[in-house]
Amino acid sequence: MSIYQNLIAGEWVGDEASPNINPSNTDDVVGMYVRASADDAKHAIAAAKAAFPTWSRSGILERHAILRKTADEILARKDELGELLAREEGKILPEAIGEVTRAAQIFDFFAGETLRLTGEVVPSVRPNIGVEITREPLGVVGIITPWNFPIAIPAWKIAPALCYGNTVVFKPADLVPGSAWAIVDILHRAGLPKGVLNLVMGRGSVVGQVMLESPDLAGITFTGSTSTGKRVALASIEHNRKFQLEMGGKNPMIVLDDADLNIAVEAAANSAFFSTGQRCTASSRLIVTAGIHDRFVAAMTEKLKTLNVDNALKAGSQIGPVVDDKQLRQDTDYIEIGKSEGARLAFGGEVLRRDTPGFYLQPALFTEATNQMRISREEIFGPVASVIQVKDYDEALAVANDTPLGLSAGIATTSLKYATHFKRNSEAGMVMVNLPTAGVDFHVPFGGRKASSFGPREQGRHAAEFFTIVKTGYTLG
Ligand code: NAD
Repeated sequence: MSIYQNLIAGEWVGDEASPNINPSNTDDVVGMYVRASADDAKHAIAAAKAAFPTWSRSGILERHAILRKTADEILARKDELGELLAREEGKILPEAIGEVTRAAQIFDFFAGETLRLTGEVVPSVRPNIGVEITREPLGVVGIITPWNFPIAIPAWKIAPALCYGNTVVFKPADLVPGSAWAIVDILHRAGLPKGVLNLVMGRGSVVGQVMLESPDLAGITFTGSTSTGKRVALASIEHNRKFQLEMGGKNPMIVLDDADLNIAVEAAANSAFFSTGQRCTASSRLIVTAGIHDRFVAAMTEKLKTLNVDNALKAGSQIGPVVDDKQLRQDTDYIEIGKSEGARLAFGGEVLRRDTPGFYLQPALFTEATNQMRISREEIFGPVASVIQVKDYDEALAVANDTPLGLSAGIATTSLKYATHFKRNSEAGMVMVNLPTAGVDFHVPFGGRKASSFGPREQGRHAAEFFTIVKTGYTLG
């Protein structure tokens, strides 16, 4: 079996590899991937530092060509890369191919952005002086990513980092090195100079920790859990380094009495259970007003009965396995916690057996939940959702906002008044009307509020806020 190595200073290095296991079939080893040591991480940072002076002054056409070529190759190989992603992460093949397509679109978008970076020229308050405001690359940027979007999240961090002239040390999640390796290989072959992009696959506590402690990283962009995000923040403040955090969610979806029931059920089922509920934008709190509550619960239960949980690669699968045994245990523990807190398990929650050995869990729907229960306050990150009954819109809004997190929020209603009020008053970074809380475009800002996010938005033109630094220049005459 081939061994996939780390890329440091333009060389593929390392030989101590670990298996990447398919959660749909634990007998299937996707590949052997090298785990970087602490010294490898230090070499990668040094290589990125050495490459920065030249890359930061490279021509925009060179950067444009590399990003375009990368987009084209990812798109041309979307079926193959989608299969790799579905095999290593467990989301179903159509979702995985969709994610790969999105990664290609992101590289395409930022290829265009290399040609569109502008500054400002403004008059000084003093006569005979000109002022120029320009954006410059930050320097060496550390990129740390989670396992649930193995290609899209790396793409939406690597593409803008390179577009704006930064060099990169990239540490993907230990569970999903395959997609990360594939895009680094594509970028390397597309012509990136040595050291501009370095890949260090491995453990957060080893490789990630070296990155956090390095004085040579000018910025760290992180997506992952709130607890790891806090470490990134503390270490970054220590080093006076710019940092950007995208973390957990406990996203509400309100269903009002006047909602179109079909739209509400489709949006809620998608939000809560697609991608096995393993999306930071997943909705795990379904806040439903009294007049529609019983009809909504009945229709959701019928819908859940139809969802086919099976091997991610199998045609007809609608929900793949949970990513690994640890996450499966977390999900089933929370199901027990929900029961013991007094919520009623209205559907699902059983561990399932399929033809191949994997981590299959039937989607679980709780009713009679309150917003104070742990299942309503803590991120479960699996196919588990709770229905919280409320009397009217005002109570629904108060419950929706009563959470320390604020990534995404949704409402199902036919009322323009409530839709508009919710968009203005939701304490989330992204608000959806009659749409799932998950599923966002690649060319507009992505991010949350409260403990879900910190720093400038990701994606679209707003990405320049993090990946560049502003300079103000004054000239006499
Ligand atoms: P995690 O925090 O365990 O890991 C994220 C990354 O941090 C991994 O690469 C990991 O190896 C690394 N890491 C772990 N310990 C580290 C340390 N001490 N120093 C440096 N790096 C370290 O998160 P996860 O389990 O991979 O991902 C799931 C979480 O990600 C969920 O909470 C989910 O909500 C969140 N998420 C958020 C978004 C968003 O945009 N808001 C998107 C996807 C996932």
